[in-house]
Amino acid sequence: MDKVEQWRDTPLDEWKESVLKLAPQAEGFLQQINSHDDLSVASYHDVVMKKWHTNNVAILGDAAHALSPQLGQGVNLALVDASTLAQCLRELDLPEALTSYSERRKKHLAFYQRATRWATPFFQSDYRLLGTARDLSFPVMNSLPWARKQMTATMAGLKTGPFGILSPDNFV
Ligand SMILES: Cc1cc2nc3c(=O)[nH]c(=O)nc-3n(C[C@H](O)[C@H](O)[C@H](O)COP(=O)(O)OP(=O)(O)OC[C@H]3O[C@@H](n4cnc5c(N)ncnc54)[C@H](O)[C@@H]3O)c2cc1C
Repeated sequence: MDKVEQWRDTPLDEWKESVLKLAPQAEGFLQQINSHDDLSVASYHDVVMKKWHTNNVAILGDAAHALSPQLGQGVNLALVDASTLAQCLRELDLPEALTSYSERRKKHLAFYQRATRWATPFFQSDYRLLGTARDLSFPVMNSLPWARKQMTATMAGLKTGPFGILSPDNFV
């Protein structure tokens, strides 16, 4: 992010050349880009709330818990929010339903908020050592059955803690 302004001041073709070196197959896409303004600059920040309701409002999705995209879970979390809220509203009157919604979402959201924050330096930072550690350790973890199961559950959006996995009841 601290190089965006500098990038805007350099000719677009220089940037295109550097992209082509990394990914020659991007040529078709690059031809469609004629100015710096054709590109969006993505920056991320975490939204952290203690509870996701007031007396008559429920907060869902990114508004409730925007996080960095390392684990690709934004949509999963938003869908589980919606499913959980619907379930609470079916079972309880409004004030209790909203309180219960926040309670039931706590563990699942806490796990993914911590995990994405923890994973960010390994995927998006200037620390090359962390990238190397990631590239060396992930294949090893993938070959260990327990670790592989945890990694798969994490990517499927099902984890509620280091050892916890979301119950299928959450998707009724
Ligand atoms: C670059 C990037 C890559 C991502 N990759 C993934 C991925 O691989 N997997 C994944 O699961 N998630 C991914 N996400 C996250 C995912 O897109 C979000 O978590 C998800 O879209 C959140 O859904 P939402 O409904 O809460 O919010 P949004 O999808 O942002 O929907 C909010 C809607 O409200 C509308 N709106 C805003 N203000 C108003 C207003 N005042 N009145 C009326 N409407 C309004 C907006 O136009 C928008 O349509 C990614 C996000 C980004 C930015």
